Amino acid sequence: MPDVYRAAGKDMNIRKTGCCVNCDAELYEIRQVQTKGPYAGHPSRLGAPLDGGLAVTFLLMDGTLCDLSLCAECGPAAEGNLPRIWRKVMNSMVYEQKHTGEGDYKQLNLTLAANPPLGMLYTRTLKDKWRDRLV
Ligand SMILES: [Zn+2]
Repeated sequence: MPDVYRAAGKDMNIRKTGCCVNCDAELYEIRQVQTKGPYAGHPSRLGAPLDGGLAVTFLLMDGTLCDLSLCAECGPAAEGNLPRIWRKVMNSMVYEQKHTGEGDYKQLNLTLAANPPLGMLYTRTLKDKWRDRLV
């Protein structure tokens, strides 16, 4: 059984909602920021996606797909930064489990920890991804 805490490593660099998973650049209009709690300083309400944001779809080891949001600079280079990016995703889940998690998160963590990405499948802009919801 994978050890989620070991997979996450010591430095708990976690991702921010609405931001590039690699460099934390904002990818959406930030309408509201959390002022307290474990996610203080993190966006809590997002608006429309900004220009240049990318939704990169990764193929995970068990055959499922996983979309991660990256900025225009980090997106094309994501494959080379995959270990670092995935570590941040793991960190974020461990952090969430520690601070807000309930029973179900443990299972989710173990499933994802056992399924690292094999590579990038395709890239869309965030505006394309959410086109149906944007009016
Ligand atoms: Zn970036």
